[in-house]
Amino acid sequence: MRFGRLTTAVSALAIAAALTGCGSSEKTVDKEARSGDTKGALIGITMPTKSSERWIHDGDNVKAGLEKLGYKVDLQYAQDDIPTQASQIENQITKGARLLVVASIDGTALTSQLQQAGDKKIPVIAYDRLIRQSPNVDYYATFDNFKVGVQQATSLLIGLKLKNADGSEGSAKGPFNIELFAGSPDDNNATFFYNGAMSVLKPYIDKGTLVVKSGQTDFKPIAILRWDAETAQRRMEDLLTKTYKGGTKVQGVLSPFDGISRGILSALKSNGYGTGGQPYPVVTGQDAEVLSVKSILAGEQYSTIFKDTRQLAAETVKMADTTLKGGKPAVNNTTDYNNGVKVVPSQLLQPVIVEKSNVKSALVDSGYYTQAQVG
Ligand code: BGC
Repeated sequence: MRFGRLTTAVSALAIAAALTGCGSSEKTVDKEARSGDTKGALIGITMPTKSSERWIHDGDNVKAGLEKLGYKVDLQYAQDDIPTQASQIENQITKGARLLVVASIDGTALTSQLQQAGDKKIPVIAYDRLIRQSPNVDYYATFDNFKVGVQQATSLLIGLKLKNADGSEGSAKGPFNIELFAGSPDDNNATFFYNGAMSVLKPYIDKGTLVVKSGQTDFKPIAILRWDAETAQRRMEDLLTKTYKGGTKVQGVLSPFDGISRGILSALKSNGYGTGGQPYPVVTGQDAEVLSVKSILAGEQYSTIFKDTRQLAAETVKMADTTLKGGKPAVNNTTDYNNGVKVVPSQLLQPVIVEKSNVKSALVDSGYYTQAQVG
């Protein structure tokens, strides 16, 4: 690993100093390896887009945390444009960044930029989304993405009353009509969410308790490029026109992200759901975005998955600081995140299901939002 090489280089210098009998430079090298050398170092952060609220929080929180430790930070957003993100990373390397934190748009599209970083021994931390097909990724800070999918599917079952919140069998028997949506195919997380969700839903689909009327259960036909709300809205409109005509209703929708959920709800609304005695189906989500939390409180969206971006930022700041000081950051998973070239040591945080009854305890009491923000 590249830090291994860095540490080796530092120790070699220390040994050389000792051999030349120069005690004071030995101390200097040691001291530099510990911290001095990193004071005021530039760290480059690249985030995918400002179009979704979570990335704005993520960027702000990581930047503030690093600045508090005395680092300089260059924070960039790419509005979901891959070449823009690639050139932002190149610029950061040119400006002398000593470490990169990257939340990628397309997890496979940064190989050559990261090779430049690798050549210059600049450590790279993948933020929330795994960077794929590159050996030049040192650490990964994220949430337990498989569990996010499990939780989304579980909340769908709870919303349909097939299960109770304590995990016991619910009062409903089904069958229920549902439709499935997945995230962007170029985002490694999307398949983790899908696989997690399907691990819960498949037995119900196999038994016929849940019926995916459109027949679209594979990842490919249900994936929404760039997690785009309008694309999701169009797909839902299409499903409603083609599959749900003549009075058949959809009762549940697995949605992987709040933006997509709101697109789905718009399509449902313009097709008569949510009014005149026709309730919305149970619609899931992710990220606890303010608009979706309000929608949950208004009885529209059923649930979301809260991933506390303050925690993720704090972990990333620790990882960056430890790495730059020549240490080994804490990780709790060294098996699950193979990026196609290597298994990237990962630190996974825990997601939480949020629905109407725990908005206050999970989001307001924890200080993530004020009561006024969620209304
Ligand atoms: C993140 C999710 C987010 C999605 C869309 C994923 O990589 O893990 O939290 O909802 O991207 O921005």
